Amino acid sequence: ELSNTPKPIRRLQEAVINRIAAGEIIHRPSSALKELLENSLDAGATSVRVTVKDGGMKLLQIQDNGCGIHKDDLPILAERFTTSKIASFQDLERLTTYGFRGEALASISYVSHLSVVTKTKKDICAWRAIYVDGALAAPDGSPIDPKPCAGNDGTTITVENLFYNTPTRLSALRGSSEEYSRILDVVTKYAVHNPHVSFTCKKSGSSAPDLTTPSGSNTKQTIRLMYGPTIAKELIEVSVSPSSGEDSMDVDDDATAEGPWKAEVLCTGPNYEAKKMVFLLFINHRLVESQRMKKALETIYSGIISKGSSPFVYLSLQIDPHSVDVNVHPTKREVHFLDEELITRKICDTVIEVLLRRNTSRVFEYQT
Ligand code: ADP
Ligand code: MG
Repeated sequence: ELSNTPKPIRRLQEAVINRIAAGEIIHRPSSALKELLENSLDAGATSVRVTVKDGGMKLLQIQDNGCGIHKDDLPILAERFTTSKIASFQDLERLTTYGFRGEALASISYVSHLSVVTKTKKDICAWRAIYVDGALAAPDGSPIDPKPCAGNDGTTITVENLFYNTPTRLSALRGSSEEYSRILDVVTKYAVHNPHVSFTCKKSGSSAPDLTTPSGSNTKQTIRLMYGPTIAKELIEVSVSPSSGEDSMDVDDDATAEGPWKAEVLCTGPNYEAKKMVFLLFINHRLVESQRMKKALETIYSGIISKGSSPFVYLSLQIDPHSVDVNVHPTKREVHFLDEELITRKICDTVIEVLLRRNTSRVFEYQT
């Protein structure tokens, strides 16, 4: 019933605030996994092993061989806004790591049972720590110090019973096979973008992984492995930068007005036709989405391949960290950046030029 007298304003409890925040960052098992993969890559891992039970709802485990975490840092590891990656706001402008907010592990600890086993090269043994609501604690909430244990160099993060305390979120998830395929999709995309790193992903209890990549590979080979030889066979490599395709004498051309950037594209040619477009977009090495870029690319292909069919496009764009605002909310996977239109147009123009050249050379081949 509506009342004319206002209710008193109260300060929310810390734990309530953090649980709300966690729900905004960790939407589903695959979003937790994305954060954890990025942490492993930030830690310089060359091997990342993912184990999943029940679509990640029961268990999500990421084992890496990265730098590990100092034992002394374990007490604040899962607190909100604790990070080893930035120290000042200015650091955001030269960000070279994925993480910077120090929110991922904290968030995960508010909506799951989080445990960490970690060992740096200098440690003589590994340390195991368990967390509840941002702090070192047993599942019943009682404080518990890190314990020495056996373990390899690197870090293993174990997330169990995700969303056990947020039943609405849990019930909003799809079945475990759908969640598992989202997990595989995230691992696949990071594997393609990090071909020097070996990835595996498997269901807990099964001996054969559903996904394996070797270390020290390259992007093209990894695409072949992940998406199949039909796509790999058709891949065309295109590099785009502000000056590409232009007369190098045109120094004061409009197109040179934007800051430095470069794009590496691996896309299928006119012979490849799939039902749905596969689009892998990395901006400054971060897996993101951009409907505008996707639309723009779809449009150029629509003039080249037959109606109702779609290409495969891998696009890695590196732009000046100044021109992409990373400090948007982490739920904003859809990114925006300075000169977005200009850059998108330049990429599309270059890609279509290359595709048309392919197309005419194919026609030419048939005619002679
Ligand atoms: P962020 O990545 O934004 O710093 P996180 O909550 O994801 O915040 O991680 C907090 C800190 O924990 C990181 O800054 C890093 O020092 C450490 N950390 C997390 N995962 C790993 C890992 N796999 N290997 C080494 N250090 C890690
Ligand atoms: Mg992180």
